[in-house]
Amino acid sequence: MSTSQRTDQYNLGVLYGDGIGPEIVPSSVAIVDAAFDAAGLQPVKWVELPLGAAAIESHSAHTPTETLDALADLDGWLLGPHDSASYPEPYKSQLNPSGTIRKHFGLYANIRPAKALEGGNSVVPGTDLVIVRENTEGFYADRNTFAGTGEFMPTPDVAIAMGIITRQATEKIATSAFELAMRRDKHVTIVHKANVLKLTTGLFRDVCREVAANYPEVRVDDFHIDAMTVHLVRKADKFDVLVTENMFGDILSDLAGEIAGSLGIAPSLNSSETHAMAQAAHGSAPDIAGRNIANPIAMILSSAMLLDWLGAKYDDNRVRDAAARVEKGVFDAVRSGASTGDLGGSASTTEFTDAVVTAIKAG
Ligand code: ATP
Repeated sequence: MSTSQRTDQYNLGVLYGDGIGPEIVPSSVAIVDAAFDAAGLQPVKWVELPLGAAAIESHSAHTPTETLDALADLDGWLLGPHDSASYPEPYKSQLNPSGTIRKHFGLYANIRPAKALEGGNSVVPGTDLVIVRENTEGFYADRNTFAGTGEFMPTPDVAIAMGIITRQATEKIATSAFELAMRRDKHVTIVHKANVLKLTTGLFRDVCREVAANYPEVRVDDFHIDAMTVHLVRKADKFDVLVTENMFGDILSDLAGEIAGSLGIAPSLNSSETHAMAQAAHGSAPDIAGRNIANPIAMILSSAMLLDWLGAKYDDNRVRDAAARVEKGVFDAVRSGASTGDLGGSASTTEFTDAVVTAIKAG
């Protein structure tokens, strides 16, 4: 990642998305504002951009070209979840909004931490791991082709999906995982299914092992995806960094999020060397949308990851400080007894947001 000192205002995009997005994204904006204020930074310049069902109404596109063009000039952005399954055709069959943005900006690394909150209801207390998920290929066929999708039906009764693993993409994601492990507990677990998908996930495992040779201080092990689910449920606290392909990473990170306490607390960052997007690991939760009961923690902690990434990109300790204040505000609020229903509490989304802002102001 290139580093250059940043002195002026940060410009961040806001994409509300669908379902609970318009509830949890504004919560994150309020909390980042409070953290910037506490860290003595100039206020963020927020740029709202159309996306999702609202953009289909206004621009006849779920991810308008205007949105993609505007994002290119920003320092980063917050993406709310989308409910693409509910879009009318032809939008429903297209690559979904987050896939479109990830592909457009080459956001190859999806970093998904799962950390148990003190005072939260984790299945395995002490869980503190990060899933590093390759984001551009693998077994999600909709992003594997230049045109069209890698999923097709030659007859009404036969459906075929294409998976792709490349050396180049695997080297990049493995390097991200080992670099991260060097800043953590120096343990990387490679997750694959090389006993069945011998060529594809076998290549993934082997290239990860080759990259591992550059990091002799890092302990390396590997597991098949099915065995990994068992290990996570039994002993998630024994893992540090997990590196895996796209679909395995998506599934494992939902599991890890619940093990840490709730999918509602599972953050993620999608990044390349030049761009980064904060996006909660969970979906748009249409079953609870519009009721002010969604847990905003995943979106808030994703925003903190974005600030941390900006701190590294611009070598700016003030924005790193703001990231730390966001995280501490969340943990302090939970420790003081504030939590939403999914964590066993009774706070609304806005009440929890207020509790975090109060905690940040208290320092
Ligand atoms: P997608 O395919 O878009 O990722 P999904 O099918 O995985 O979506 P989610 O929308 O993530 O589903 O929801 C799964 C369950 O978790 C739902 O019962 C939902 O209400 C709950 N959930 C998800 N996010 C939150 C949240 N932030 N707060 C509370 N509950 C949530």
